[in-house]
Amino acid sequence: MNATVNNGAAAPKVEEKLFQNRYLVDAGRPHITIKAGDTPSAALRSLVTTCPAGCYSLTDKGQVEIAADGCMECGTCRVVTAKTGEIEWHYPRGGYGILYKFG
Ligand code: SF4
Repeated sequence: MNATVNNGAAAPKVEEKLFQNRYLVDAGRPHITIKAGDTPSAALRSLVTTCPAGCYSLTDKGQVEIAADGCMECGTCRVVTAKTGEIEWHYPRGGYGILYKFG
């Protein structure tokens, strides 16, 4: 059920707003990469559930993978792994990445 705003109209859900965004992939140049390592830290593993775009996943071997397509550039993963240094994070090149439609 949608929430209503003051004029009685139904407010769109967050998911409906996010669906309006578009993403331009910079093929072969991911802006986030995971550095090679033996065992992912708890911080890195937590991104499987905390990344709002669902970019991180856990493999059968317990390694964390990232598919940065759809990344919203929120910076959560950058902050969460700042102490462990397990990821390399840059903004996408100009013209690539998330294209927000509603701010
Ligand atoms: Fe996910 Fe945000 Fe990191 Fe992008 S910057 S991969 S949306 S946590």
